[in-house]
Amino acid sequence: MIVVCGAGGFIGGHLVQALVQQGDRPVRAVDVKPISEWYQVSPEAENLQLDLREKEHCEMALYGASQVYNLAADMGGMGFIENNKALCMLSVLINTHLLMAAEKYGIERFFYSSSACIYPAYRQTTPDVEALKESDAYPAMPEDGYGWEKLFSERMCRHFSEDFGLVTRVARYHNVYGPHGTYDGGREKAPAAICRKVIEAKLSGVHEIEIWGDGNQTRSFMYIDDCVKGTLDIMASDIEEPLNLGSSQLVTINQLVDIVEAIAGVKLKRSYNLSAPKGVNGRNSDNTLIQSLMDWQPNIRLEDGMEKTYRWIYQQMTKKQVLAVSR
Ligand code: NAD
Repeated sequence: MIVVCGAGGFIGGHLVQALVQQGDRPVRAVDVKPISEWYQVSPEAENLQLDLREKEHCEMALYGASQVYNLAADMGGMGFIENNKALCMLSVLINTHLLMAAEKYGIERFFYSSSACIYPAYRQTTPDVEALKESDAYPAMPEDGYGWEKLFSERMCRHFSEDFGLVTRVARYHNVYGPHGTYDGGREKAPAAICRKVIEAKLSGVHEIEIWGDGNQTRSFMYIDDCVKGTLDIMASDIEEPLNLGSSQLVTINQLVDIVEAIAGVKLKRSYNLSAPKGVNGRNSDNTLIQSLMDWQPNIRLEDGMEKTYRWIYQQMTKKQVLAVSR
């Protein structure tokens, strides 16, 4: 039995689909949200609503399991993590209780989804940043709140391996995007937020867009299919150290907006909100280590991935509009 925690969310939902398709072992999908609110539900999986901050719920989730993917966390884009540091840090309960249950039940393999937010702020001060290598994590000065929790949880995985012999694998995800994720409500990340804003402008005819920060901040974005493949590969590998999992194609937020405008066939008047949360000035993934250790590299071009994401968000938004009109 393979358990996916956080299966009602964006990456977890896609991972469950991939594991069900592989068909090697039965899949159990777990999330705190009611199942009706999951982004994707696979009827072939055993779907459970559990609060994984609770130790007993973690034991229920992992009972009879051999492999565990922990993707459950209270998280969102910069707007959420900069304003909800305590909530982000409370996700430490999830990974702690899952590791304890994994150790208790002698789980074969445990995967933890860490983040590029563990990297120190002092390495990300300019838009033309040097890509982040795994060894750059220390001396530590991660994103306050969310990043500290991720770095602590990574280390907890490491010590459960060293002290209890639990096999753990860790990926540091760099900005993952794609369909079936959050695009409104305050937890969305830049690619989905920009798609939504461009679609709102297109549908309303008000051809304006507000961009958080000055638009010159840089990031790399990994399409969900590349993320799922990398996650499965890292889980199956014998690599004990945390690995970057991200794209190394660096773009500015302005360039990301250019891409979405081209997909939508509109040109918008841009305004820049310099007091909005914008995160570090620049961040990129150095993929040298992962490419030296395994056969993985991001395959989906940003333009292609954004097109699929845009189409999905457009469908969701126009569906909502039709429902609102017919009420
Ligand atoms: P998401 O918010 O879509 O999914 C996380 C899921 O965890 C949600 O469905 C949420 O309900 C669930 N969850 C939260 N608290 C829970 C609890 N107490 N018990 C059970 N489930 C709970 O986020 P995502 O984008 O799919 O991210 C998955 C993982 O990858 C997270 O750990 C996140 O920190 C990490 N990550 C994501 C990105 C990204 O760009 N999406 C980047 C870096 C790291």
